[in-house]
Amino acid sequence: MIACRTKSVDDTKALAAEIAPLLQPADLLVLAGDLGAGKTAFTQGLARGLGVADPVTSPAFVLVRSYAGRLPLVHVDVYRLDHVQELVDLGVPELLDEDGVTVVEWGDVVTAALPPEFLEVRLDHGEGDDERGLRLTPVGPAWAPRLTALRQVLGPWLVER
Ligand code: ADP
Ligand code: MG
Repeated sequence: MIACRTKSVDDTKALAAEIAPLLQPADLLVLAGDLGAGKTAFTQGLARGLGVADPVTSPAFVLVRSYAGRLPLVHVDVYRLDHVQELVDLGVPELLDEDGVTVVEWGDVVTAALPPEFLEVRLDHGEGDDERGLRLTPVGPAWAPRLTALRQVLGPWLVER
């Protein structure tokens, strides 16, 4: 697990943008955390890092949105409860873009139906209003060769132990 701290919404976006160059086709990122933790902000930074030109919005009525970038970005938001059933019906593996990167705003609602490989990013409210803690946990072997690089790009935000 890699623990980071950000000091503003732009800081979180900047952190996410630094991760983008490490992303590969078929990657899945699972974003966990309460409402307002910064999952959409993280996705927006990631999109910027992927060279996505269109604005990434928080889709209130849309489960899935796709964006063109260096790699295609698929943004899934399961915040709404009816999205949970939709997602279970669809199955996360069916949503995964083999050629692109899939980001799921998970909101902690569902823990089943995940494929065995993903990068989990758990966001928590920090002490100050604009502080957030981010804990990144690679699950499965896909991220193992990239761990050193991941730690390196996250250097400015790493929480000292
Ligand atoms: P979520 O998608 O998890 O519900 P959003 O990204 O939509 O959260 O909203 C995060 C809110 O918190 C925004 O209003 C943003 O401006 C604010 N914020 C304050 N500090 C931070 C931070 N360090 N990182 C991310 N968002 C932050
Ligand atoms: Mg959101």
